[in-house]
Amino acid sequence: MGVLIRPELRVDDTRFRANLATLQDRVDPAALMLVVKDDAYGHGLRGIAEAAVSAGIRWIGAYDVPSAVLLREAVGPEVSLFAWVTSADDEIAEAIIGGVDLGVGTLEYLDRVIVQAERLGARARVHLKVDTGLHRNGLSAAEWPRGVETALRAQRESSVELVGAWSHLAEASDEEDDAAHACFLAALGEARELGAEVPRTHLTASAATWLRPELRGDIVRVGAFCYGIRSADGPELPGLVPIASLVAPVVGIEGEEAVVSIGALDGVPSTLAGRVGVGTPAGARPLTAVGLDRIRVRAWPGAQEGDEVVLFGDGAHGESSATTLAEAIGTVGEEILTRLASRVRRRHITG
Ligand SMILES: *Cc1c(COP(=O)(O)O)cnc(C)c1O
Repeated sequence: MGVLIRPELRVDDTRFRANLATLQDRVDPAALMLVVKDDAYGHGLRGIAEAAVSAGIRWIGAYDVPSAVLLREAVGPEVSLFAWVTSADDEIAEAIIGGVDLGVGTLEYLDRVIVQAERLGARARVHLKVDTGLHRNGLSAAEWPRGVETALRAQRESSVELVGAWSHLAEASDEEDDAAHACFLAALGEARELGAEVPRTHLTASAATWLRPELRGDIVRVGAFCYGIRSADGPELPGLVPIASLVAPVVGIEGEEAVVSIGALDGVPSTLAGRVGVGTPAGARPLTAVGLDRIRVRAWPGAQEGDEVVLFGDGAHGESSATTLAEAIGTVGEEILTRLASRVRRRHITG
């Protein structure tokens, strides 16, 4: 492996595959869509997608069209890519050409998708989104019949393939999620009455997928849990482990402290100083200060330049998980990972 020169995020592909297998087992017979927004939650988009596809994943949720189009090259034609952010016309065209499935949550967007498909003489693969209460994009109950009819007309005219229907849950309380689910089922019933087949349905993200099997559609969209990021204030998850460790080298010893080459510019929140421990060759040691490109850690017996310090990971060196660090400063594990700077190298290992 050689001596560590710069901070790196080590992504353990063996663990990643194990997490995916655990999730796939749990959701069977639903298909597991791996969500890779925000550079695969900071783990590195392309490497994660390639590892997932080689582990058998056939649905990837990319959020934006450019990421999905970029992945089309990497993953080949067999894998379904889903992009759900409302996009500009040129991106819609790229998505259609790249065979990217589009999540469509407004009538205006649906019209623009159809125009692009007609212009290209191709079919857009569309998943219509139902607003089930979040009011964050999605066709309202009043708009839904018109959306379905518009999509069906375009399907007859060969500019749309209506692949599925979907929505997103608040995951704030079981009652709210139950109400959203009922709303989703009503919309599906209505679509089928209007003559739509709706082959695919999806509603749940990590927490509801794991805890509420009765809410799953035939696809589940899972981000955080695939990477082993548990919910803040949520339970530990049997069979899921953090797949990434953030590691940085000791570059000097000053008195009682080891100086480590990583800092706020790399994405380490300065508010962590004094609140958490980090992993060292001698186990957990307090993080005493966070500067721009250095942190300071209480030294351990025999500490020396070149030693590796682990800011978060699976706990093997006494470090916490990203979520546990996040809880110390009132945020979520995803934020600790996604704020890592691009200058932090992502390196895949097999454990
Ligand atoms: C982010 C996101 C997900 C995945 O959420 P996790 O809680 O990370 O699993 C699923 N669906 C949509 C629409 C999202 O934006």
